[in-house]
Parts: sequence; C-alpha cells; structure tokens
Amino acid sequence: MPRILDGAAIAAQIKKEVAEEVKHLAQSGVRPGLAAVLVGHVPASEIYVRSKVQTCAELGLYSDLITPPDSVTTEEMLDLVSALNSRDDIDGILIQLPLPKQVDAKVLLDAVSPAKDVDGFHPINAGRLQAGRPALAPCTPAGVIEVLRRNSIPISGQNAVVVGRSDIVGKPAAMLLLHQNATVTICHSKTRDLGALTRQADILVAAIGRPGFITPEMVKPGSTIIDVGINRIETREDFDRFFKGNEKREAAFLKRGSVIVGDVHPAAFELSSAYTPVPGGVGLLTIAMLMSNTVRAARMRRGLLENSGETVS
Ligand code: NAP
Repeated sequence: MPRILDGAAIAAQIKKEVAEEVKHLAQSGVRPGLAAVLVGHVPASEIYVRSKVQTCAELGLYSDLITPPDSVTTEEMLDLVSALNSRDDIDGILIQLPLPKQVDAKVLLDAVSPAKDVDGFHPINAGRLQAGRPALAPCTPAGVIEVLRRNSIPISGQNAVVVGRSDIVGKPAAMLLLHQNATVTICHSKTRDLGALTRQADILVAAIGRPGFITPEMVKPGSTIIDVGINRIETREDFDRFFKGNEKREAAFLKRGSVIVGDVHPAAFELSSAYTPVPGGVGLLTIAMLMSNTVRAARMRRGLLENSGETVS
C-alpha cells in the first residue's frame, strides 16, 4: 500500500514553527506584516484571501486587507504597490490573481519590491533562486520540497521529473529539486514520448492543469508522486473515469455537483510508494509557505539571515 503524504499534518507543523518564530521576533519588537490586495469580487479569490488573512491572525502576523474596486487601473495599482513597498509595517505584499483585464499584471508584479515579494514571482527572486542565493521562493514549489523533506523522502541523487514549466510551479519546483541534488528533467506540452521520461522518475511532480493526465503506465512502480494539480470535474462521465466505485467521492459529487481531481489519475497512485492526495496534499501547504515566506522576508529585510549561512530552502 502506498503511503499517503498528508499535507494537512505538514501544514500544521510549518504553521506551528512560524507561530513560534513570530513570538521570538516579537521579543525584538518585530511583528511580520502581510498586505493582501484583493481586487473586485472573484469568489474563489475572496475565499483564498480570507483564508490567508485568517491564518495571519492565527499565527500572530499583522495583516492588512486592501480591496480596490473592479474598475481599478494599472496606474492606481502601481501607486498602491509603491505605498506598500515603502511601509515599514509591511514585510510581504500579496496581489491575489487573477486581476481584471485592464490591469497589466506583469508590470504590477514587477513593481513589488523583491524584498517583499512573498509569492516569489519577481524576476529578481527567480534569478536569486536559480543562482542558489537566499530568496523568496514561490510558495507551492517550496511546499513540494517540504512534503518530501518532512517525510524523509530522499531527493539527492534521485531522478526527479517535473511535468509543467510554468514560472509559478514547474520551473521553480525543478530549480528547488536541483538545489537538493536531484537529477531533474522538466517536461512540457512539446515533450516527445513523455511516458518514457516519467517512467524514469523516482520523484514525479505533476503540475499540468489537466485532470488525471498522468496514467498508471506513465509511472515507475515504487516512485514518489507529488500531484500539484487542482482540477474541478463536473460531469458524470469524468467522475466515472476517475472515481467509479469510490463511495466517499460519489457522496461528495452528488452533494456538490463537482469534485476535485489532481493531474494524476487515482489509479496511478496505487503504483507509487508514496503520494500526495488531491485534495489534502500540496494545496494545503501553499498558505503555510506564504506565512513562512512573510516571516522570512521580515528577517531578511532586517538583515537577520546574514550570518546564518542560509541559502535557498
Ligand atoms: P500552467 O501555467 O497552465 O502550466 C501548465 C504546464 O503544463 C505548462 O508548462 C504546459 O506546457 C504543461 N502541459 C500542458 N499540457 C501538457 C501536456 N499535454 N503534456 C505535457 N505538459 C503539458 O499551470 P500552473 O499554474 O503551473 O498550474 C499547474 C496545476 O497546478 C494546475 O492544476 C493548478 O491548478 C495547480 N496549482 C496548484 C496550486 C496549489 O496547490 N496551491 C498552486 C498553483 C497551481 P507548455 O509550457 O508547453 O504549455
């Protein structure tokens, strides 16, 4: 039976550590602060941001929720970011995506001070990550490493195959695995004979955005599978394709009219030695890593990492 890598347990562990660090920093009069910018009324974004703000309160971080209207312009958002960059009580700036069409997201994300870029999206942080310098790494890929590390799954010397090369998941996940001495292959939509590559993976990271894309014949038996994908399925046909006979999921499907499936077909997990479930895996770590990054940013901004010899984690 494969081991289920429980994201909730690891998220709770990380949050506990963050809360302890917040208490420790309080002794020096430092309270890490996160500004969460939520534009308009996108229901999913509202849920995410509420959860982020709530977690700040639970862990003792200061947070400021800023809610510009749907009609906000790029210029107005740039002014807001500039003000947040200058505020001493703010260590991390989070701009919840997606943004309305009229706002140039790229220009805006590039305007966030790299020192406060707790999402790790700024090109400066991407460059630092690549160079192996202290950086704010994107939260979801950082969560991938935490899942492996905290479950004592060896990374060094392992063949890691990352399917997906986005700037926010695939590429940074590959870079973090490389820094942990994995031999890394990055695959994408133009990769030839994908299965031949994924079958060599001791660690397979799926970050594709396609429900159940990784099928059993693409998996090396005994490997570790990290499924980053979050896909909602709403039709009976799709449901049966992934979860036929699964009573618990069936009940959820009938109740809500949809269920979440990752990028890995559930049958493929059965071949692994360990895997992250969806939901309940990597997804739960993203907020915990955001909190961790905010505390890290607070320390970095005050030069508190300088003598620790710390590099990218
Ligand atoms: P994305 O920007 O759409 O990138 C998807 C990647 O998958 C691209 O690199 C694409 O290749 C590759 N791909 C698409 N079809 C493929 C195919 N047939 N064969 C091989 N590769 C293929 O998505 P993302 O933002 O990285 O997110 C990936 C998944 O992770 C999504 O399900 C998303 O919901 C989930 N996610 C979860 C969290 C979380 O847990 N908190 C956070 C972020 C994302 P090309 O580059 O060639 O197009």
